[in-house]
Amino acid sequence: MYCTKCPRKCQTEHGFCNADSASPEVASVYIHTGEEPPLCGRRGISNIFFAHCNLQCCYCQNHEISRATVDASRIGLRGVDQIVDATIRSLKQSENMVGFVSATQYSDLVPIIVERLHELGHYPTVVYNSNGYESLEVLKTIAPYIDIYLPDYKYAFPDIAARYSNAKDYPEVAGNAIKEMFNQKGSALATDEDGMAFRGIIIRHLVLPGQVENSLACLEWVAENISTNVHISLMSQYYPPSGLDLPDQLGRTLKQEEYDKVVDRFYSLGFHKGWVQDLCAAENYHPHFETETSFR
Ligand code: SF4
Repeated sequence: MYCTKCPRKCQTEHGFCNADSASPEVASVYIHTGEEPPLCGRRGISNIFFAHCNLQCCYCQNHEISRATVDASRIGLRGVDQIVDATIRSLKQSENMVGFVSATQYSDLVPIIVERLHELGHYPTVVYNSNGYESLEVLKTIAPYIDIYLPDYKYAFPDIAARYSNAKDYPEVAGNAIKEMFNQKGSALATDEDGMAFRGIIIRHLVLPGQVENSLACLEWVAENISTNVHISLMSQYYPPSGLDLPDQLGRTLKQEEYDKVVDRFYSLGFHKGWVQDLCAAENYHPHFETETSFR
């Protein structure tokens, strides 16, 4: 096996993520109402939660479906036909929006799934929800099929990226990926008369306990290398998943003063579009984006 779907470029029989595009696995297609408001509206977005993940963060809040060896009981859908059928069923109850969540390891299937939806008469807005650890070649290939990029920018420091996600080159790789996404979509998040987004980019950043300096550096990197006109989603919802051996201070939730420092830097750098969360989001896991702060 030789896989180039992500920068790890695995050359082993079973790659780092252990995903196999010949038999794609999806945990579920789930209508999510807790995303940023322009992505979910009132009825929610139909999110396709792909199994496995190319990053394998040690603190992953979806680790039961993202780990390399996913328990078979967690897989709800197998193969493109089942994924497309479930997506169409979901779209009947959600906004006309589909999210590909952690699809990097199956990125070759994104055009196939979108084209199949089109063939069957469905033209949803397509959101590519990514951890940011992407190859430029893949992003150029899927560009015609993606309306909105929703990348994380997790780490600005290689040592933290290595310790938490076994990806020392994450700051550079994700930085280049976000530059490519930004070049494709620009800084404007286009929305319709109902406030639903249909084109653009939103950069997410999850503030980790004990890693305020990393968060400040991430915001500084975006300000210097992307734009302060881009939408930023500053997430405070971290909670320590049970049953995981977590390093440093990842065994606790975020403190208010830690989050406040990051929000203060957000403003002082000149960002003015996006969302912050109430810290109580951590207790409930699901983001409370409805408590949107309008940045002025
Ligand atoms: S997508 Fe998975 S198998 Fe492919 S290069 Fe990345 S980690 Fe390796």
